Amino acid sequence: MSETGAALPVVALVGRPNVGKSTLFNRLTRSRDALVADQPGVTRDRQYGYGAHAGQRFIVVDTGGIGQDDEDIDARALAQTEAALAEADVVLLVVDFRQGIMAGDEAIAEQLRRRGAHVFVAVNKSEGQTSVSAAAEFHALGLGDPWAISAEHGDRIRLLLEQVFTDLPPPRATVTAHRADAIRLAVLGRPNAGKSTLVNRLVGDDRMLTQDAPGTTRDAVASEFMFKDKPYVIVDTAGVRRRARVDDHIEKISVVKAMQAAEQAQIVLLIIDGVNGLSAQDIRLLNLAVERGRAAVIAVNKWDGLSEKERLTLHAQLVERMGSFDFLPLVFISALHGTGLDDLLGAVGDSHRALFAELSTPRLSRALEAAVEGHAPPAIHGRRIKLRFAHQGGQNPPTIVIHGNQTQRLSAEYKRYLTHQFRKAFDLYGVPIQLVFKNSD
Ligand code: GDP
Ligand code: GDP
Repeated sequence: MSETGAALPVVALVGRPNVGKSTLFNRLTRSRDALVADQPGVTRDRQYGYGAHAGQRFIVVDTGGIGQDDEDIDARALAQTEAALAEADVVLLVVDFRQGIMAGDEAIAEQLRRRGAHVFVAVNKSEGQTSVSAAAEFHALGLGDPWAISAEHGDRIRLLLEQVFTDLPPPRATVTAHRADAIRLAVLGRPNAGKSTLVNRLVGDDRMLTQDAPGTTRDAVASEFMFKDKPYVIVDTAGVRRRARVDDHIEKISVVKAMQAAEQAQIVLLIIDGVNGLSAQDIRLLNLAVERGRAAVIAVNKWDGLSEKERLTLHAQLVERMGSFDFLPLVFISALHGTGLDDLLGAVGDSHRALFAELSTPRLSRALEAAVEGHAPPAIHGRRIKLRFAHQGGQNPPTIVIHGNQTQRLSAEYKRYLTHQFRKAFDLYGVPIQLVFKNSD
């Protein structure tokens, strides 16, 4: 038996435009760059990301993009702050040292104080200043001792994070015990895609009622089911499946819940409505899942409702829109009628095997050699980049360590090529592959 852990803390960045929120966001989520860079075509979400500090993972939300269409800047900042408060454990109010306190800062601070939010004031752009002098003026915001940082230069960010995580209330542990050998799934997708219908189909009707009860915490709950004598667990975060209003803020914020569920799962099942096809939000969820190193299976639901012609059109559209996610399996199901579930769980099984595949050093090195023979890395200033040998650095997701020289000069395109070659050689479909490069001279 094992347990599903508690949810990741959520840190939201709020503040006026141009104070440095997205720069701070990039810095906080930077630790994930290695994986993202080597994924074919994965672009990092500019609003949601995973960060890590001293072994503690967290979710970062940059509220800067929320409500971007509003005309009124102050109204927008307040709406963004409201959205952040809905799900954040900690709010970083970012202000600009060079500008000093502006009316907009005061309005946001007032709102945060009124709501009793857990806030740190981050006085950004204070490189070259002592922290005492940079922070002094901002005490007036009435939100405790301000923290002078420089998002661009990385100054004092670690100190700030240390304080953030020291002060954080311990995670609420609403966990459900389950078998350790079960494959852990998270079911994600837009409202109405058919997630609850599928979960009901797999797990049974009863638990849905209990889980949609008000008052459930945001921590993950796990429900076990058996399919063809194999144990599975669906990890879910209260509210992931709750029907969201078709409201921009709600829709965007539910991404955090999807991230929480993906955190606790090994494989993400992205359910899409066959009538609507793959949306921008679906692509965003795939990006986040892959960024986090999760396997993913795309299940096109409501297949029953489509004519033969519609199916062909949809299939073509999906293949085109998936673009660089072409390494993810695509299955067609009807959650309502229970068809396609064999295919779905078959793809899940394959992805799970790929996640935990054991890649022997000789075979990896041979695959590397074959890849280099097929298409050699370019010469840089007349000197060829050499890739000598490879070994496995880890599982879940499969991590391949490649030894060579000047590897920092390899283009993203060449890394994608290598990833593709390893994927083919070891049948690693459905999973992100992490490449790590080591230089020996
Ligand atoms: P946002 O609108 O709050 O997301 O702000 P951005 O992150 O886009 O930053 C606005 C501007 O401030 C950009 O030109 C950044 O390069 C700059 N900036 C961000 N952080 C710092 C910093 O620590 N020091 C300095 N000097 N400039 C910064
Ligand atoms: P959720 O919001 O993603 O949990 O979606 P639901 O499971 O609540 O389903 C939304 C609607 O789609 C409901 O009316 C379901 O009956 C319907 N639905 C779900 N799966 C299917 C399916 O496979 N075929 C058809 N025709 N309708 C479906």
